Amino acid sequence: MTTPYPILLVEDEPHIAEGLIFNLSAEGYRVCHVTDGETALQHLETDHYALMVLDLMLPGIYGLEVCHRLRQQGDQIPILMLTARSEEQDRIAGLSMGADDYLAKPFSLKEFLLRVNAMLRRSSWSAQGSPADNGTYRFGTNSVQLTNSSATTSDGTVTLTELEVRMLDLFFTQEGQVLSRGQLLQTVWGMAPDTETRTLDNFIVRLRKYFEDDPAHPRHFLTVRGRGYRFVKTPPAT
Ligand code: CA
Repeated sequence: MTTPYPILLVEDEPHIAEGLIFNLSAEGYRVCHVTDGETALQHLETDHYALMVLDLMLPGIYGLEVCHRLRQQGDQIPILMLTARSEEQDRIAGLSMGADDYLAKPFSLKEFLLRVNAMLRRSSWSAQGSPADNGTYRFGTNSVQLTNSSATTSDGTVTLTELEVRMLDLFFTQEGQVLSRGQLLQTVWGMAPDTETRTLDNFIVRLRKYFEDDPAHPRHFLTVRGRGYRFVKTPPAT
């Protein structure tokens, strides 16, 4: 798969960057490589990229901050974050700052390419138009507009990332039904249904933080133990 725009790789470790560039190029992707967050942000202001691969531990401003600033500006470029295996807290923070997926170092190049391909496939789907309708979807104190990736919640306005839009779209169209982890991973992330990943759970945490009055006691985005997740538009009165 080729893309009209290059992939922006932000990685300060030369040998890792070299391996990634080599493999992405072998797949036919163009790569723009920078080694720090400031330069990445400058590039993103002026140029278009299909995807950003963002290392978390960078000289100068951290990967997390880069992510945060971009999402605050409403930039919805797909972001694949690279973290060290021990950085569980960082991974969760990264996803809550708006990264779409993460890979823990050390990862296999095969796994890396699978993730990149899946992310690019999803974003080309979304460029062809979201399957959502044009209307506003309301539940609880929230109103969500999938077509322009925005939501109004009791805390204010939220800019949704492309993956959040895909996930919400699935929940809204399957309202009241249990969606298995496999179904969500496959439809939203394009991953094999048996992929072992915390990404999905972290996304649910994010949605609850946006949309639930009390994220610790969700009433809309429910866990169905051993089966998956279920979205309830109008929870029964308590
Ligand atoms: Ca690094």
